[in-house]
Amino acid sequence: MGSSLKPEELMVELQSKGIRLEQGSVKGRQGGAGPANGKGMVFGTFQITVPTTGECAMNSHYSLHEDGERAFILEDGEVISEVELIGKPQFYALHTADGVPYNKIALLHGRDCLASTVIQTCSRWHGGERCQFCGIGTSLNDNNTMPVKTPKQLAEVAEAAVRLDGVTHVTLTAGTTANPLHGIKHLGDCARAIKEATGLLVHVQFEPVEDLSIYSQLKDYGVDTVGMHLESFDQKVRERITPGKAKLPVSKYFESFAKAVEVFGRNQVSTYIIIGLGESLADTLAGCVRCIKMGVYPFVVPLRPVKETAFANMAPPEPKTMVEIYTEVARALADKGLRAADSKAGCVRCGACSVLPAFER
Ligand code: SF4
Repeated sequence: MGSSLKPEELMVELQSKGIRLEQGSVKGRQGGAGPANGKGMVFGTFQITVPTTGECAMNSHYSLHEDGERAFILEDGEVISEVELIGKPQFYALHTADGVPYNKIALLHGRDCLASTVIQTCSRWHGGERCQFCGIGTSLNDNNTMPVKTPKQLAEVAEAAVRLDGVTHVTLTAGTTANPLHGIKHLGDCARAIKEATGLLVHVQFEPVEDLSIYSQLKDYGVDTVGMHLESFDQKVRERITPGKAKLPVSKYFESFAKAVEVFGRNQVSTYIIIGLGESLADTLAGCVRCIKMGVYPFVVPLRPVKETAFANMAPPEPKTMVEIYTEVARALADKGLRAADSKAGCVRCGACSVLPAFER
């Protein structure tokens, strides 16, 4: 048994090529935001989610074989690595007093992050302005979640997730509300309730708004880190892939990053950057370096096919491309002293959607 690839290279391969599941295998998470349609795996100290649906995964030369308690990765039918799978957490078996299953309120991401889309609707979903990769409405249509989660519900689930499954931090996101400040206020209320109930470190994600006092308000609510996701530095790509969000210029994001870093500190503000949307790698790297100099962690991820979206059957970028960008971004992070491990909460700390943290070594 053995692969000629280094562990981080194998993780990149799996995120780019996906993995075929043998019949009877538990499918992993279906639909939604974040690591949708994926299987959670642990490689040493790192965790990743690996795509399991879409043409790419169906035709992958990697497959997963589960044998009792053990699991193995096969390449063209040959075992190349044993792997630890992230199992179903115990809190999924519980429900609220009024009968709502806990896993309709929040999910386990990676090994120890509790994640919730606190508002599962988006003002852009039906208007032709939705982000092409997003599956926020899919889970709702499938009845896997609730349109709005209350602070009280989230505090209750968080308490159980800490007690039963050792959760250490929280990621809260939301679709865009007609008045974006209302959505951010709800994220803040949810963060505060979780913090008061559990003391957990909390990350929230939202789009920049005009009111720059929002960052200190969120900090007062107990928020530890924030994410504002550009997805691409290339305005043409943004107009094609995220037409609604593209109305906010890239400059607005950088203005907001600067204010957020003032409030939350370096390494505690992040932005998702998706590779595989047709962007120039040189421009992407330049944009990442600009973020890093400001203290913003560019969380570089490969495009991920999500079922029932325009991207369902698109192929993630080639592993070679991901290795190139991860290597360069990791070098720039090291140069400015930013590290995933120093992020207090959220996607950068979790790291399961990217192999960038493994390249930081
Ligand atoms: S990186 Fe973010 S979206 Fe991905 S699994 Fe972790 S918390 Fe979820």
